[in-house]
Amino acid sequence: MHPVVKPALRRGWRDLNTVQFGMTPAHALTLGPVDTATGSFLELLDGTRGLPLLREEGSRMDVPACQVDALVGRLARAGLVDDARGGGPDADALREKTDVIERLRPDLATLSLTTQEPGGALARLAARRALRVQVRGAGRVGALLASVLSGAGVGEVDVRDVGRVEPWDVAPGGLPAESLGTRRDTAARAAVRRAAPDRPPRHVHSPGSGAGEPGFSLVILAPRDDVAVHAPDPFTAEPLMAAGTPHLYAGVVEGTGVVGPLVLPGESGCARCLHEDRTDRDPAWPRLVAQWRSGRARRVGACDVTLATAVAGLAAAHALTFLDGESPSGAGARWEVSVPGLNWRARPVRPHPGCGCGAARRAAERAEREDSSTDGEPRATMAVQRPSTKRGREPGAARPTGTWRAHV
Ligand SMILES: [Zn+2]
Repeated sequence: MHPVVKPALRRGWRDLNTVQFGMTPAHALTLGPVDTATGSFLELLDGTRGLPLLREEGSRMDVPACQVDALVGRLARAGLVDDARGGGPDADALREKTDVIERLRPDLATLSLTTQEPGGALARLAARRALRVQVRGAGRVGALLASVLSGAGVGEVDVRDVGRVEPWDVAPGGLPAESLGTRRDTAARAAVRRAAPDRPPRHVHSPGSGAGEPGFSLVILAPRDDVAVHAPDPFTAEPLMAAGTPHLYAGVVEGTGVVGPLVLPGESGCARCLHEDRTDRDPAWPRLVAQWRSGRARRVGACDVTLATAVAGLAAAHALTFLDGESPSGAGARWEVSVPGLNWRARPVRPHPGCGCGAARRAAERAEREDSSTDGEPRATMAVQRPSTKRGREPGAARPTGTWRAHV
């Protein structure tokens, strides 16, 4: 291990022997008491030295070897230390590609804030390269969203749509003006390629390989049709539900941006759960939906470029959080934002007992388990504290990246 104090967090001394890592309540931690010698020793944790050399240099600075080990261990447990050489073979391969790493440095820095284990950030970034994601819909939201995922290092982003690029599809970061009149899916895939920091590794996917082709880690439904955004059609999602493929909804309908729900089949509320719940609340809902669906599809909706960009950004962020193996905050919720106030709010998408997806049953089982267990052991690390009582980071239940097992 070559420890490096995470460079993403600014360091400051709160007093003579308390050091604060980070500025914001969400990620800042304090460490103390730290004597002057240890304070100077912290400067050596820059990733250029392994532990034996650190112990050697520490002893010259009046920091005994056992104290060096204890300090590094304490910082590592607090999630403040990265390993400049860690992360495993895929991380090593990525580390060799210095130009790609330079492109993704801000993304890597963000990952360092959300991963606890040393070397974990680069491991996650490397894992993104092996992921396959599909975006269905290449309008203002879908094309930009696909490009953002590609720019964030997701190895394969496939885009599906029909028709040709219309003038109103064009948006910064999405479909360019030069693509007018060309096929939407072709133009969106080209945008995805332009956004990629690197060519995907060869083993990811070879087109037309057919049998044995792995499925998508995530499918994002970003329809251009605003009725499909407002009232996601459960029939469209049926193959995804049957295959156990996680999917995320995103789009804009009449000046309202929608992100979610992220559907984990059999675990969290799906499109049919949403439909059933709405019908319970408003008996006229199915009648209205039938009329909206049978009406002529609108070619141009109220989907201004700022709203489309905000929706694409949040949807891509939720997608990446899920793909990186964190507990998805978008599962079981539909985030909505409307002009002109633009305040994001989450509406719950509860598993519906009348839906066959099984999420309601699972939720009931979970509630029963939680009732019977005595959870909540304290996670406090000795002498490492957050400066604020407001906690932003939650431990969450991390999964291996890119994996999802459905319990249908
Ligand atoms: Zn359901």
